[in-house]
Amino acid sequence: MADSKILVIEDSPSSLKLMLTLLEMNGYEVRVAESAEGGFELLEQFTPDLILIDIQLPGMDGLEMTQRLRADSAFEHTPILAVTAYSSQADEKKAFEAGCNEFIIKPIDTRSLPDVIGGYCEGARTGE
Ligand code: MN
Repeated sequence: MADSKILVIEDSPSSLKLMLTLLEMNGYEVRVAESAEGGFELLEQFTPDLILIDIQLPGMDGLEMTQRLRADSAFEHTPILAVTAYSSQADEKKAFEAGCNEFIIKPIDTRSLPDVIGGYCEGARTGE
């Protein structure tokens, strides 16, 4: 849904710019953090409908952040979409085991990502 809120956690400026442009074009309210630690700070005052998280982050990585979010009842059911340049099946398995809903391989497919995100945000709105 157009007014859904999304938290993007991504340390690569070029990827961040691409995601931000794409999401804002689709009408989402977006907040960004460049680290997991920064993401947790934002989550103290912002409750996103969906989280887009880069797996390779400085400091705590995206998988650990996802595991911590899944252990928190406030974010237990929030859709978490992992983004990564590592595309092996082992990496994919680790992402799902950490609790990610989707495993999105970079470079991001700008045509399909809005549909994937839209699917989750509409699901949340109707209570699935
Ligand atoms: Mn990264």
